[in-house]
Amino acid sequence: MADRYLNFTGTAPGRFLTRRLGLPQPAPLHRRTEEHPAFEGQLLHFTAGASPYRKELSELLARTGLQVRGSLSGRAAGPKDLVGVVVDATAVTGPDTLAEVHAALHPVVRSLAASGRVLVLGAPPSADDHHQAAAQQGLEGFVRSLGKEIGRGRTVNLVRIAGPVAAAETTLRFLLSPRSAYVSGQVIEVGAIDSELVLPDDWERPLAGRTALVTGAARGIGEAVAEALVRDGARVVLLDVPSAEGDVAKVAERLGGRALPLDITADDAGERIAEFTSGPDGPELDVLVHNAGITRDRRLANMDAARWSSVLDVNLGSVLRTTDTLLKAGAIRRGGSIVTTASIAGIAGNTGQTNYAASKAGIIGLTRSLAPRARTEHGVTVNAVAPGFIETKMTAAVPLVIREAGRRMNSLGQGGLPVDVAETTAWLACAGSGAVNGQVVRVCGQSLLGA
Ligand code: NAD
Repeated sequence: MADRYLNFTGTAPGRFLTRRLGLPQPAPLHRRTEEHPAFEGQLLHFTAGASPYRKELSELLARTGLQVRGSLSGRAAGPKDLVGVVVDATAVTGPDTLAEVHAALHPVVRSLAASGRVLVLGAPPSADDHHQAAAQQGLEGFVRSLGKEIGRGRTVNLVRIAGPVAAAETTLRFLLSPRSAYVSGQVIEVGAIDSELVLPDDWERPLAGRTALVTGAARGIGEAVAEALVRDGARVVLLDVPSAEGDVAKVAERLGGRALPLDITADDAGERIAEFTSGPDGPELDVLVHNAGITRDRRLANMDAARWSSVLDVNLGSVLRTTDTLLKAGAIRRGGSIVTTASIAGIAGNTGQTNYAASKAGIIGLTRSLAPRARTEHGVTVNAVAPGFIETKMTAAVPLVIREAGRRMNSLGQGGLPVDVAETTAWLACAGSGAVNGQVVRVCGQSLLGA
């Protein structure tokens, strides 16, 4: 559904009126297009404290295709070309070095282009050094506050480096690209990898050679996820309920994928998926995206058992059952990825959604608990995307006032698009993201809810 307010604020009278009335002024977000798949321009790289990563990081950043510089001074081009600032704060161990983060960003933050990126790199807060822990935790408050004030579609995120910096390349590239337009205020940990790091040969097709199954792929976010995975080189299997067989077949035809009409709550759903995705030489599935989900909203006092159990079964029970079956059967190949779909409702709670929020909070519990074991035992990562307000049929049905509140109550002042969730899923689904495990990444424009 069109966001008329966003369109209006893009016009001269709209800008004038909203400024005079002190109303939110959301900026149109710069998303990836075929003509402009990446940002073009300059990236500032600062270091706070004595980081061991300085050289390796500047080489990594140079591979993004951006022009990496150490300062603003002497720039030939205008400020519009400054598309990103990276501050390596991994060596920040106390208030003194934390002040270097302020010193680095304070003079340049105004020069950052609309839809530009601020990326702070930190280290996990230490359990043994409370000075380091204080400073590293301080970065979280810093990033979340800057995200709220920076405006103009610019995003601010914190990546905690808990393993080799090379293992963070897919994550840094994602967060420094137009693909992460609606991801802001996030703290993402990138850990160690226990096998060889597999980086894509072609960064425009990082999923080449992988097979992905997306549940709930007939429309909405699931359809967008399938589309992004195909664009990034994956073969896809699109699963949806038998009553949506016609729709899912159309999407499959358009994307050159295969349709699997199946109710994910069926007792044998896991076995059916394993069978459908195995080839002559064994399992062929690399990526499993649990996207199918439903809402049956009522306040608890009016919610009958059927509303409760249908939501819990589609959104959580089926995810637990099929994941267990597929992992036990070895139906997801080593190096694979599972991406689950939570929601900010599962983090913040929502009136009329005790069932939905319980199911989505359950997804977060599942993801964090299973991730380390899935990696050790099956060589598979498990991460969650947690969408905020995304413009879909589901949110178009929300009453106008609540819909407007949902759209505006985030740092970017607008709803996200299905493609924003899809881009995040595609980053988590590639083999090079193997060091990202057990993370819950909100795709919510830094929603004020549950922040
Ligand atoms: P949607 O209703 O447009 O699409 C959901 C798809 O899942 C449909 O095609 C539906 O047929 C399918 N599905 C439902 N039950 C199924 C079952 N038993 N077996 C197989 N397929 C089934 O929803 P959407 O807005 O695209 O949401 C996708 C996911 O994102 C859901 O998990 C939802 O909870 C989550 N989410 C959405 C938003 C949002 O703002 N739209 C916000 C947070 C989370």
